[in-house]
Amino acid sequence: MSDESQLSTHGVDPDDLLSELDLLKAEDVSWQDGRTFSLVYNTGDEVLEKLQGEVALRFLHENALSPFAFPSLRNFEADLVAVGAELLHGNLKGGSLTSGGTESILMAMKVARDLALDRGVNAPEIIAPQTAHPAFAKAAHTLGIKLILAPLREDYRVDPAAMERLITENTAVLVASAPCYPYGVIDPIEDVASIALDRGLLFHVDACLGGWLLPFWKKIGRAVPPFDFRVEGVTSMSADIHKYGYTFKGASLVLYRDREHLNRQYFFYDDWPGGLYGAPAAPGTRPGSPIAAAWATVRHLGEEGYMAKARQVAEATDRFVSGIEAIPGLVITGEPDMSLFEFTTTSGDIAAIGDQMDDAGWNLDRQQGGLHLMVSPYHVQIVERFLVDLAKAVENQGDSRGKKIGYGGVDV
Ligand SMILES: *Cc1c(COP(=O)(O)O)cnc(C)c1O
Repeated sequence: MSDESQLSTHGVDPDDLLSELDLLKAEDVSWQDGRTFSLVYNTGDEVLEKLQGEVALRFLHENALSPFAFPSLRNFEADLVAVGAELLHGNLKGGSLTSGGTESILMAMKVARDLALDRGVNAPEIIAPQTAHPAFAKAAHTLGIKLILAPLREDYRVDPAAMERLITENTAVLVASAPCYPYGVIDPIEDVASIALDRGLLFHVDACLGGWLLPFWKKIGRAVPPFDFRVEGVTSMSADIHKYGYTFKGASLVLYRDREHLNRQYFFYDDWPGGLYGAPAAPGTRPGSPIAAAWATVRHLGEEGYMAKARQVAEATDRFVSGIEAIPGLVITGEPDMSLFEFTTTSGDIAAIGDQMDDAGWNLDRQQGGLHLMVSPYHVQIVERFLVDLAKAVENQGDSRGKKIGYGGVDV
């Protein structure tokens, strides 16, 4: 490669190129066999995956930047907002589609900042649980505002009283998760909401994970504490369609109780020789495929499809949890409310157990306190194999290199 220029001179023939691509891709984790957790929400649903591929091709070159040129995309977006808002009992016209949870959170925090500036707050602050997703830290950094972390109770849910003590005249918005990523627990939404109402503050519920699963979790008979717009005081929510909504990457919702708040998200600029420019969220040019595929996925699955997948996720989660708890020395952290959790060891070396699992071909996410599982529908097929390997990993942990625990398995 070194004496060639970076750009190929003659271009590469499609067949050669596809072979090259397959070769390069061979190094990637194969999520299809259920050995990864969290990066892909694997349904194993071939009909759905084929449909998504076909829809993506049909909208490969379309650009949602202009709703006038592509009214189909505008309509898909409006439909998705309405479905998401119906599931979460919000305002059917009070939201927008974004590229992912990070963008949804960035937009909600931007609106909160701007509303705080409007009422004369000079240095707006966000108060969020220690377990809030790093997207809140990123949003605070990007928006030039301060993130204040609230401590957790012993049950790993945010402590509302501690949160209240952190409120100052600079507070722009309170945040809680339904559920949080590290431990899969739902923060006490009603308690935080009543503080927000008392103090006249905004309250964002991050349901990036739960937004497209908890409504069905409840319908299949699982306990779900109040977490959505039915709780008075919740003013905005984020809900990723590309997680438990089962579409491919590039689709999330940000929803507001008050349509006026959505208006504050929009950006318009008319001082440009190129003409009037407007954008509802962070990007300019927006790919059509994720929007069309999210719409097609939601329409194809419908309530029954989502309930069927929720049942698979619930069954797999129960079997993982009881199987892990049955292995001597392993414990689940806290009492997870949904389909994701951390586990660790009381008597051994969790990093060494993680290494053994890596060697057995599993790709577990590593956290500060243990290993993390995010359960997808497909996992219902591999639980037993996983548990057999995990029991062996616990037994053989002494043989492991004992590499230190760190993000994504990287040595730290
Ligand atoms: C995934 C996630 C986010 C961020 O979403 P991206 O789609 O990765 O940008 C935010 N909050 C929670 C709880 C998440 O799990």
